[in-house]
Amino acid sequence: MIVDYHTHTSLCKHGEGELEEYILKAIELGLDEIGCSEHIPMPNDFDLRHRMTVEEYYSVYAPRITDLARKYQDRITIKRGLEAEHLPSSEEWVKKFIAENDFDFVIGSVHFLGRWGAEKPLFHKDYEGEEIDGLHIEYFEAIRASAESGMFDIIGHCDLIKKFGFRTSKAIDEAVRNAMEAIKRNNLCIEINTSGLRKPEQETYPSETILKRAKELRIPLTLGSDAHKPQDVGKDFDIALGLIERYGNGKVCVFEKRRRKEVRVSTLKAITM
Ligand SMILES: [Zn+2]
Ligand SMILES: [Zn+2]
Repeated sequence: MIVDYHTHTSLCKHGEGELEEYILKAIELGLDEIGCSEHIPMPNDFDLRHRMTVEEYYSVYAPRITDLARKYQDRITIKRGLEAEHLPSSEEWVKKFIAENDFDFVIGSVHFLGRWGAEKPLFHKDYEGEEIDGLHIEYFEAIRASAESGMFDIIGHCDLIKKFGFRTSKAIDEAVRNAMEAIKRNNLCIEINTSGLRKPEQETYPSETILKRAKELRIPLTLGSDAHKPQDVGKDFDIALGLIERYGNGKVCVFEKRRRKEVRVSTLKAITM
């Protein structure tokens, strides 16, 4: 069994391509399942640069998943997912949106620090000159809170903050440990997200240092490319599969209607190592 549970489309405005192109790429690679996990729409035009509107979700994205799941049912399983935000004071909205939809899985991601309304985005903002340790501690504290929110199944790209610099000291260790323990306590899994390999840091999210901790705590793993264009579906999964073997006992989490199962991961047919 092999899955890619983290994909976007042009609907999030910083992605390219139609959902069907992502699905065709997943079929070409021999994936068993693809998870459609666009950024959650938010009210009051919040961060519209990086997401669809609520109206677009219900009139375009959600019905498109239904139609394509039917169209390709003999070739691939299409799962209804979501990449939700965790941002203090947005919980009620996010909870309600999740409850109103029939998701197979929900990824919880931290893309902003601070509170809703006074948030600092982590998308493109240049954090040059900010105190790197302090920023990392604030980020991992937010990951801990997202794990404790009870809203999610998968914690997304759980060390995304490293994109602003690796120059951290021992001071962040405790925050990382607290975050990982909260993920375990709340029975969540983490994704091996290969998009970091396509960024200047050239490393998966999370790093092997964090994956080692995940293994010690027996936190289960799943797989996501975070593709923002069709050709990135399943990208670098040869590397991710090696990490699943090393840190996840060769098992990957799959979801149906938010119920989790761990299954043995298989190799990709079309990827040559
Ligand atoms: Zn994300
Ligand atoms: Zn994403």
